[in-house]
Amino acid sequence: MKITFPHMGNVYIAGKAFFEELGQEVIPPPRCSRNTLEIGTKYSPETMCLPLKIMIGNYIESIEKGADTILITGSCGPCRFGFYSILEEYILKDLGYDVDFIVFDHIGEGLKPLKENIFKTFKTKNIKDLASAGKLGWKLIQTSDYITDLSNKRRAYAVNSYKVDLIMENYYKQVEKTFGANEMINLMKSTIDDLNHVEIDENRNPIKIGLIGEIYTVIESFVNLEVEKKLGHMGVVVEKSLTPTAWVEHHVAKFPFGSKSENLKYKLAKPYLKTLVGGHGRETVGSAIYYANQGFDGVIQLLPLNCMPEIVAKSILGTVSKDLNFPIMTLILDEMTGEAGYMTRLEAFVDLLQRRREETLIG
Ligand code: SF4
Repeated sequence: MKITFPHMGNVYIAGKAFFEELGQEVIPPPRCSRNTLEIGTKYSPETMCLPLKIMIGNYIESIEKGADTILITGSCGPCRFGFYSILEEYILKDLGYDVDFIVFDHIGEGLKPLKENIFKTFKTKNIKDLASAGKLGWKLIQTSDYITDLSNKRRAYAVNSYKVDLIMENYYKQVEKTFGANEMINLMKSTIDDLNHVEIDENRNPIKIGLIGEIYTVIESFVNLEVEKKLGHMGVVVEKSLTPTAWVEHHVAKFPFGSKSENLKYKLAKPYLKTLVGGHGRETVGSAIYYANQGFDGVIQLLPLNCMPEIVAKSILGTVSKDLNFPIMTLILDEMTGEAGYMTRLEAFVDLLQRRREETLIG
């Protein structure tokens, strides 16, 4: 079994080390690129949302490197993600690729198939082994998210923000050369150390922006045109409302009660949106209110074109913005999104937030 999985932000870093440690052969998906997008767009239905197209590109790139088993989480919510795995399997079979799909469906879809898939993937039925594998996976996910968050913070304060990019680029290159959890953890430690040694200007009071919206576009930097980096170079601190850590904590570690932070978002969203609308639509509304309460200068909602839950959230965010006097900008992404127009909108939004700050100080 040669395992691969969709590329989603830094998940591949934790996934690679984790499965190698369990004795599985892993073919991590190459980092998303123009090539990934072109392959995915060519073989996916035109009207499907962008994450599926990228995933098809990821799978084909990994299969061509030898992968024969695809791991993916399932969903039973009211959005297209619920049939991603079925559609993806059809597309690949139709193209003549003979691969196995292991789908980790929500526990509500049945404990037995979930257990079987876990035993098959984790190569053990021993509960103690499973618990220590889970602990290791959790540590890797948390640390790789910590590095992403740290890099976003350091970039905004750095005297030379491009030094942070160099450290991160070196980290990504080294990830490919590591094997197993120990090597990965050592690499993570040295990357954290390098980031902490970047010279910073502590007197800055940077603009703070929360990134909210559809999980894939918030997490995957290729899809969001590296919005964190772009804002960081403008001296903006960026915080993401959704991360792999937050997802695992809510759906796995704290199951069935959910994490405190996500439950708070549901609560905050309630006056505007009471029901589940699929994806993270409800969390998007709650996150906007959360960041307003936390004193952030504004939020940016990211969504793929045609994303149903986020279209619902977008229709509510205008009211939230008016009620709280809080700037919210929406950016819609698809395979046609142009970099120049995107950059102009980001710059205009940051200018607006800066002016609001100045006016508050004068007023
Ligand atoms: S949340 Fe949006 S982009 Fe993601 S699968 Fe659902 S409809 Fe598609």
